[in-house]
Amino acid sequence: MHPVASTESSETQRPGRLKRAFGRPLRLLWRHRLPVLLGMSLVPVHAAVTLWMPGLIGRTLDLLTAAAQAPPDPDTSTIATSDPETLAAGYGDLRAACLVLLALGLAEAVSRFVSRRLLIDVSRHVEEDLKNDLVAHLQRLPMTWFDRSRTGDLVSRLTQDAELVRFVMGPLLLHGGNALCVLPAGAWLMASMNVPVTLAAAGVFGLLLFAFRSVMPRLHKWSKKSQEAVGEISQQAQEDFAGIRVVHQFARVERERAAMATKNRRYLLANLRLVRLRSLLNALTHTTSGAVLLTVLAVGGYEAIAGRITVGELFQFIGYLALMTFPLEVLGWTIAMLPRAYAGANRIAELFEVEPEPNTGAAPELTGRIRVENLTFTYPEAERPALADVSFTLEPGQKLGLVGPVGAGKSTLLALLMRLYDPPRGTIFLDDHDLLDLEPEIVRRRFALAAQEPFLFSDTIANNVAFGDAAAPAPGDAAAPAGDLIPSTLDAAVGAAALDQDLPQFRDGLSTLVGERGVTLSGGQKQRVSLARALLSDRPGLLLDDTLSAVDPGTEQRILRGLETARRDRTVIAASHRLSVVADADLILVFDAGQVRERGTHEQLLAGAGRYAAAWQLQAESDALESNDPGGDGEEGAA
Ligand code: ATP
Repeated sequence: MHPVASTESSETQRPGRLKRAFGRPLRLLWRHRLPVLLGMSLVPVHAAVTLWMPGLIGRTLDLLTAAAQAPPDPDTSTIATSDPETLAAGYGDLRAACLVLLALGLAEAVSRFVSRRLLIDVSRHVEEDLKNDLVAHLQRLPMTWFDRSRTGDLVSRLTQDAELVRFVMGPLLLHGGNALCVLPAGAWLMASMNVPVTLAAAGVFGLLLFAFRSVMPRLHKWSKKSQEAVGEISQQAQEDFAGIRVVHQFARVERERAAMATKNRRYLLANLRLVRLRSLLNALTHTTSGAVLLTVLAVGGYEAIAGRITVGELFQFIGYLALMTFPLEVLGWTIAMLPRAYAGANRIAELFEVEPEPNTGAAPELTGRIRVENLTFTYPEAERPALADVSFTLEPGQKLGLVGPVGAGKSTLLALLMRLYDPPRGTIFLDDHDLLDLEPEIVRRRFALAAQEPFLFSDTIANNVAFGDAAAPAPGDAAAPAGDLIPSTLDAAVGAAALDQDLPQFRDGLSTLVGERGVTLSGGQKQRVSLARALLSDRPGLLLDDTLSAVDPGTEQRILRGLETARRDRTVIAASHRLSVVADADLILVFDAGQVRERGTHEQLLAGAGRYAAAWQLQAESDALESNDPGGDGEEGAA
């Protein structure tokens, strides 16, 4: 099963679904426990301060009413103005209440500001940690997993889904904490004043909870669809723009546009549903607030007329309700967002569940002897082996040539040597260590690969060449140009790869930016940047995977001469369709359909008069034709 496409089943079947989705963000939250605890400890302070206010105002109102009115005249039943002493006491009460309110207001503002800052900041840090951890995890996943994953989808999980988790985490901490304090405390305060009014208010709130419960499953379903649609859109956008030339060449612009429009519509429909459901919840929350107020006014007003509560107490009730309504509304909004965050967190959790490649094993000193014994390898899910019964031994400093038609298994052998895929046990040995017993990183660090389809970063040529050098800056880090770091070795590698002959064509020489994936370079130039990168990296093994397929014969000869000097005593394994690249090898293996059909040195193979000799003859004739062709000195196959 595709590991990234497993959301549906796991989500509906696994127990502890919430733990699975939010377990990691919560653990990350624990990393920032100090600000969380500090912020959370201020939440009850804030709640206490705000809940104090309605009581204070209510009691002051009652005192003022009493102070402003003398007791009614028993004869006439009229209300007279109070005497000056009572009035003075009333003014005193008013001043004291205002001062306390001012202090409470200040305390409220400070506790609100500090707790909000601390808790919202933490949610940002958790998002950052989550993204960093995810990138670190993805980089440890095996190649077989990447063969089946989709870059656009990964990007949307890494960005949008991680943001969604943050989006609810901060408000949930802040308003959730506030609601946890304000709601029970407010309810208790209200109940201690008057039970019937409290029960009436609670009944209306209960209806709201019921409405939430019935809307949530649909909210969840459409949130998931919306997130999946985002993944599809970013996947197609990524492929369309990376492959824009192919799209244009094959006049597929309209078709791609239509496909994108379909995905966009799917996204739109999911979001329209979400907007509808959220609007419904929003309206319900607001209407409930109004309904509760109305109920309290009606029931409370009746109680006030009956003399069971004062007007000040009725005001106090309404004040508590106002305080309880706000966290409820915000909590309602946050809960409405929860399904989206849950869907996002689940999509992230799925990635974390993919087992990383263990980076364990021996890390001995190696001389670099390579021994391959009866290697047969089949890619996961492939039907026939890509390599069958391959054996050879290569001493340090020797050169091995791999030739054969397309799909013969040459690149597969290189990938296995670098342990990008795990070979069967007992088939590949470095010195006398089984490759599987060595730390994968130790193995990879022994080889520098100049790939058949080189990958260049959106950076300068110099930084791309210096990519394999430990002292070089990360791609895109303009702060430390590679050319300044290691000029002499960089120039030597550039010269050995015959890239120097192209520099006058580039506006800023080695500092020229190459565009995404090196789109502004020709195929041959990209190959030579990749070759210079491999030469500069100074690793003991040099793997050339048809690296010179897109350069003309003249340049090829120059590179081969440069390579002889630049490789020094490094072991070289060169896979190539061009036999001239392997002619000086200590051993040449001729592959066909994963099997070694011929083996030997160039001279032995020519003498054998087999496939190699025939191919050599053919290539010599074609090279002779090409060198006579006045227009045939350019590079082939520019991207
Ligand atoms: P070329 O000269 O075209 O580069 P090659 O000799 O390097 O060809 P490989 O790339 O090693 O050939 O491919 C050998 C076989 O393995 C081919 O049939 C190919 O389809 C298959 N193959 C290559 N990579 C994978 C992969 N990641 N998953 C499954 N099959 C693969």
